[in-house]
Amino acid sequence: KQLLLQYLKLFLLLGLSRVTTEHVPKYDVLASLGTLPLDGHFSFHDLPAAARDFGNLSSFPPVAVLHPGSVADIARTVRHVFLMGEHSTLTVAARGHGHSLYGQSQAAGGIVIRMESLQSVKMQVHPGASPYVDASGGELWINVLNKTLKYGLAPKSWTDYLHLTVGGTLSNAGVSGQTFRHGPQISNVNELEIVTGRGDIITCSPEQNSDLFHAALGGLGQFGIITRARIALEPAPQMVRWIRVLYLDFMSFTEDQEMLISAEKTFDYIEGFVSINRTGILNNWRSSFNPQDPERASQFETDRKVLFCLEMTKNFNPEEADIMEQEIHALLSQLRYTPPSLFHTDVTYMEFLDRVHSSEIKLRAKGLWEVPHPWLNLIIPRSTVHTFAKQVFGKILEDNNNGPILLYPVNKSRWDNRTSVVLPDEEVFYLVGFLPSAIGPHSIKRTLNLNNQIIEFSNKASIGVKQYLPNYSTEPEWKAHYGARWDAFQQRKNTYDPLAILAPGQRIFQKTP
Ligand code: FAD
Repeated sequence: KQLLLQYLKLFLLLGLSRVTTEHVPKYDVLASLGTLPLDGHFSFHDLPAAARDFGNLSSFPPVAVLHPGSVADIARTVRHVFLMGEHSTLTVAARGHGHSLYGQSQAAGGIVIRMESLQSVKMQVHPGASPYVDASGGELWINVLNKTLKYGLAPKSWTDYLHLTVGGTLSNAGVSGQTFRHGPQISNVNELEIVTGRGDIITCSPEQNSDLFHAALGGLGQFGIITRARIALEPAPQMVRWIRVLYLDFMSFTEDQEMLISAEKTFDYIEGFVSINRTGILNNWRSSFNPQDPERASQFETDRKVLFCLEMTKNFNPEEADIMEQEIHALLSQLRYTPPSLFHTDVTYMEFLDRVHSSEIKLRAKGLWEVPHPWLNLIIPRSTVHTFAKQVFGKILEDNNNGPILLYPVNKSRWDNRTSVVLPDEEVFYLVGFLPSAIGPHSIKRTLNLNNQIIEFSNKASIGVKQYLPNYSTEPEWKAHYGARWDAFQQRKNTYDPLAILAPGQRIFQKTP
């Protein structure tokens, strides 16, 4: 009876969905999913939702969504697809919070695993000399923060936005203003549990199955599905002094940033923004920065077309406020910002880390959150960032194009070169994010065109950029992205996911029918 029901669902589904014939798996393969003994279940009504992401630019419906009740459910499903071998075109995509930009968490005609349903891996905080938390791969970072703060602890390295999943950001890198000091999130993981493309459940760490451990970190989901991560913690501060200052020239802006990220005594968080023909840089959509002197901030005026904003924080507990003031004074006195542009505010650690969410709530209320987001994220070597800035901020872009532009340096020594992330070959490099919201009739086309111009210029001028959250669709592009590491990347794929079942939305490897 069960099987018959599955067949019926399947016929209905094949009739209704927009799956191309190229992606249609053989009926018996899909129907056989119904025979798997699961703690969770497959669903078929939510296929359109699994074909959407934050980018809002790609939609590839799967044929089934797995809501795993256990890690074994994920392993059984992947194993089942693996054993079908070349008789099936089914692929499997782990979906974190679906905050990819160009369909990376989708699986055209395949199975999407909704990782947030994986509630069997309970979050556990382990205080002590080297504290850590064990969290499910489908856990949102905001939940990790809420839980660990109960113990006075918190992860060391963050993303700007916390409504992303542990497995999703660890598959990329996870970067923010703490990266210069602690490295990206992938530098702060002690152990992973992974379901490989063969359906094996493997625990790995720098000591145990270390190749898989490093492969999965920044591995774009290619080598396995992260079902649990052990994340290093540190004592959490109660408060944060949050500061913004403006620069009129790129040179002093970047020199000060580089000085700050290499100093021993420095801020706890350092990021920068670029503002082109725009007002309100002290108070942009990406954060809820409300300076103590809002009137003065709104009156700040200059005739410069391009401005640079340095954003810094210092953590403190109320009883140490005096020391914090002295340290900040000493640091600020070394910087060359425009003096009337210094603004600050004190907020709780939670308010600071969850700052983008407050903006999300406001944008959602105006219907401006679920719009297309043709974002472009780049990694640029220090030696070419000035050439890049001159052309891109001075010529290609005429304004901010409806979104923030981030630009801040990090130290390569805080990254582990055994992971799958590719980086420029320099000790300091810049993370540069163009984060537009496409609003209005020609906005998507216009933005994609600007993104192309930026990439084309970078290639022509040999800037040596790498894309972060990379978006390529052909093998030559991926080969160029990985450069000398392509062979090793391919070798790892062969070892852990030889049939190319996992994360098809990255469009790196194609499952051969
Ligand atoms: P998804 O988009 O669902 O998945 C991303 C990829 O990882 C897919 O290929 C998917 O198949 C794979 N995947 C998902 N879960 C797993 C798993 N458990 N195991 C293996 N593979 C998996 N990134 C930063 O580094 N820094 C930032 O400051 C930052 N800010 C952001 C702000 C916003 C508003 C948004 C929308 C994104 C931001 N990002 C940032 C990007 C973010 O890191 C990516 O969107 C990332 O994909 C995480 O999103 P997700 O958890 O929804 O994963």
